[in-house]
Amino acid sequence: MGLTVAIVGSGPGGFYSAAALIKDIPDCKVDVIDRLPTPFGLIRAGVAPDHQSSKKIAKIFERTAQSPQVRFLGNVEVPRDVSIAELRGLYDAVVLATGAPRDRRMGIPGEDLAGVYGSSEFVGWYNAHPDFRELSPDLGTGTAVVIGAGNVALDVARLLAKTGVEVRATDMAHYAADAIDVSPVKDIYVFARRGPLQAAFTHKEVKEFGELENAVTLVDPAVLPGADVALEDKGRGSQEKNVGYLRDYALNKGDEKPVRIHLRFYAMPVEVLGADGKVSAIRMEHTRLDDGGRVVPTGETFEVPCNIVVACIGTQSTPLDNVAYDERNQRFQNQDGKIEDGLYVAGWAKRGPSGTIATNFPDGSQVAEYAKALTPDAFKQGPAGLDQLLSDRKVRVVTFEDWKRIEAAEEAGASHGAPRRKFTTIPEMIRTLG
Ligand SMILES: Cc1cc2nc3c(=O)[nH]c(=O)nc-3n(C[C@H](O)[C@H](O)[C@H](O)COP(=O)(O)OP(=O)(O)OC[C@H]3O[C@@H](n4cnc5c(N)ncnc54)[C@H](O)[C@@H]3O)c2cc1C
Repeated sequence: MGLTVAIVGSGPGGFYSAAALIKDIPDCKVDVIDRLPTPFGLIRAGVAPDHQSSKKIAKIFERTAQSPQVRFLGNVEVPRDVSIAELRGLYDAVVLATGAPRDRRMGIPGEDLAGVYGSSEFVGWYNAHPDFRELSPDLGTGTAVVIGAGNVALDVARLLAKTGVEVRATDMAHYAADAIDVSPVKDIYVFARRGPLQAAFTHKEVKEFGELENAVTLVDPAVLPGADVALEDKGRGSQEKNVGYLRDYALNKGDEKPVRIHLRFYAMPVEVLGADGKVSAIRMEHTRLDDGGRVVPTGETFEVPCNIVVACIGTQSTPLDNVAYDERNQRFQNQDGKIEDGLYVAGWAKRGPSGTIATNFPDGSQVAEYAKALTPDAFKQGPAGLDQLLSDRKVRVVTFEDWKRIEAAEEAGASHGAPRRKFTTIPEMIRTLG
């Protein structure tokens, strides 16, 4: 038997690794394990439901999954169903590609009040991730606050501002589309600690704020750089393009459309205020940047009454079994993707939560480089051993063929021009399989 590899996690980190392994090691066998019955990680559960073109890469991963060298084993959670130690006893190599699913905390008083959410849970809710099916955020509020200046913050604000018709044409969870359809949210504040030139969002996402049917975007012209300031134009992170759109929005009037998105810079949250255990307002503090570009609070605060706060300030990996974990950087301890001989890491579990889907590509090549140096161990049972273990434990493994049946049922259930109507619980998905 050739080399055997188990990959934990079927997102981009996992599938780029699988693709590189079968390309570089022709006789290897790769099992891609995921705790969900659905493959592709954040492509399904993170990427905005109105950005279907960004999800097309899943078709390429699908070709990898259908290679005779690769299997998908969904609905298998590590370590609930099989431990890392057991996988290492069965396979020549194990790759962790479990992403960074835990929300970072703001670290301010009041953030545990009802109505305050992290981006993973809020995005997971509207994207039908089964973990967040029951989140039921209360959108029956006039004002929503989003903290952060990255694309995730812009996704959240944009989707909250969309009309029912706009969201129903996407694959947003049906319950979330229903909630947004009837939501009375009229003002959405997006707060960034730094200025427009430091924002992490990209111009494609900023541009969309000018294309919303029911919402107008407002920017204070005083925070924008003057015409004499040199702006960088570096691809996705183009300051020039970002500022161009922000200058357009600075000309908008608040009464042009029923919903207003306020893009506010130089402000950081200092306290979430509450009444009856629920958020009632957020206290913000104005900031400035020092000569080194560091954020300095000014001591000048203001409050925004609101009933929902979504903190889009980043996520972190979840420690797994006894694998060495880097608490400071909140990811697995690794040296260029290697944890130790035979144990590797790829994607956000390796590097932390930044970059696009394609940013994970080189991680796969690196994993294959390490694996090429390994010699298959004739005593390791590989896929047959895992099948036996999961069967003994009565785990209902969802294969790639099973997933295609789930997908077909989701597509058949679609309406209003949506690409699919997603199942929102694991039992629903399993029932579909009979
Ligand atoms: C809200 C959001 C929107 C984004 N939008 C875009 C976009 O439009 N375009 C773009 O290019 N990039 C986008 N990204 C970035 C992109 O999604 C990431 O770069 C990419 O998904 C990271 O891949 P990954 O494999 O490391 O993690 P993930 O995609 O998170 O995959 C991890 C997988 O591991 C599984 N897993 C976790 N723990 C276990 C366990 N214990 N046992 C078994 N399985 C487990 C999970 O179920 C998941 O399937 C977005 C990210 C977010 C958060």
